[in-house]
Amino acid sequence: MTNHATLFDLRGKVAVVTGGGRGIGRAIAQALAAHGAAVAVCGRTAGTLADVTDTITIQGAQALAVTADVASDDEIRRLRETVLDRFGQIDILVNNAGIDPHYASMEHTTAAEWHQILDVNLSGVYRCCRELGAAMLPRRQGAIINISSIAGHIGLKRQVPYAASKGGVEQLTRALAHDWAEHGIRVNAIAYGFVQTDLTAGVVAHPHIGAKLLSRIPMGRFGNLDDVPGAAVFLASPAAAYVTGHSLLVDGGWTAT
Ligand code: NAP
Repeated sequence: MTNHATLFDLRGKVAVVTGGGRGIGRAIAQALAAHGAAVAVCGRTAGTLADVTDTITIQGAQALAVTADVASDDEIRRLRETVLDRFGQIDILVNNAGIDPHYASMEHTTAAEWHQILDVNLSGVYRCCRELGAAMLPRRQGAIINISSIAGHIGLKRQVPYAASKGGVEQLTRALAHDWAEHGIRVNAIAYGFVQTDLTAGVVAHPHIGAKLLSRIPMGRFGNLDDVPGAAVFLASPAAAYVTGHSLLVDGGWTAT
């Protein structure tokens, strides 16, 4: 019999959030901690990570900051060992770290830009699933949440590498959900629309592009960081016990039109 009071309870769980130092990752890390999880955050900047772990600790939850680049096999292996040394287990993995330094059409996209975006946004998810997700296998339970984008669902203009990376994340999510369902590990994605963070500050503030983007959103506004964590808490929690291989669109209705 379901205990409805504990549907979103994450006490006793250990979460790892990549790119947890700011933006969407930070909002998710703090929300998972507020629901009771111990949370490890990684990223390339020690200062922002320390700020998040200080905040979570003040909230009364356990937190760990690990400087690690998702583009590095060695650093992700070290992340796994550091988290397991401190907490002994990994239950929730949020693959959030991502970049999009490049808005340009295909003919102005260099091979270096293509490889950089794919290496962080797609191969980074692969790396973290292989190293951190695999640590869930012996315990036969876990939830992986891959942060995707509407760019993984529709063809946004001048974003070929980013769209390809997020399309890859969508398919990685479905295929891995299939592989690991028999091991008790759920794998889902969240596809956000335009959320106001450092990543989108330039386009959102642009007088023409910002207005054009806004006109595509039925809810008539960009997302903010309060709109972000509910989907992640749901997918991490017992409330989503029968949900796997899904991509949850959190986009103000953009892709419904
Ligand atoms: P953001 O504010 O730029 O934050 C990105 C985070 O990722 C930072 O914490 C950054 O920390 C970390 N990061 C970047 N490269 C990394 C690397 N190689 N290794 C480890 N950490 C790395 O971006 P955001 O808007 O929060 O985006 C977070 C995720 O949501 C991304 O995957 C993005 O594609 C996705 N998303 C965002 C939106 C949006 O509208 N904002 C929409 C759809 C999807 P360091 O720089 O310190 O490493």
